[in-house]
Amino acid sequence: MYDLRELYQQVIVDHARAPRNFGRLENATQTIQGFNPLCGDKFTFYVALKDGSIDAVRFEGSGCAISTASASLMSEAVESKTPSEAREMITRFQKMVTAPLGTDPSTGDLGKLGILSGVREFPVRIKCATLAWHSLRAALDGEEAVISTE
Ligand code: ZN
Repeated sequence: MYDLRELYQQVIVDHARAPRNFGRLENATQTIQGFNPLCGDKFTFYVALKDGSIDAVRFEGSGCAISTASASLMSEAVESKTPSEAREMITRFQKMVTAPLGTDPSTGDLGKLGILSGVREFPVRIKCATLAWHSLRAALDGEEAVISTE
């Protein structure tokens, strides 16, 4: 168990240090600003929809390790998914990180994203982990807005 946690930690640190899909997306069809005032995480998310699926997700800004890693992992996970597949993933992710401690977080087919279930041990970080996902949902809903976790 310890080794597994260690591995999870490494993946988060890796994505926080070298976030994937970081930067502006010129052909974005949706742009959303996500803000978590509790921690100070602030990102702009760019989503490009093409032929009924998510062509690319990019983000820029700054935040803590958890919010950055979550955004990075999210941007990889939803690429080439349809909006409805992405919505299902958002719902599953939120269920996972809010599942009570001591219960199986049910990561289902979230794959690598399952590593973020560890934030359940640190309730204050849950909003860090979900910021990218709230923002993606807002982008898919077609909102042109600023999303705040508060
Ligand atoms: Zn944070």
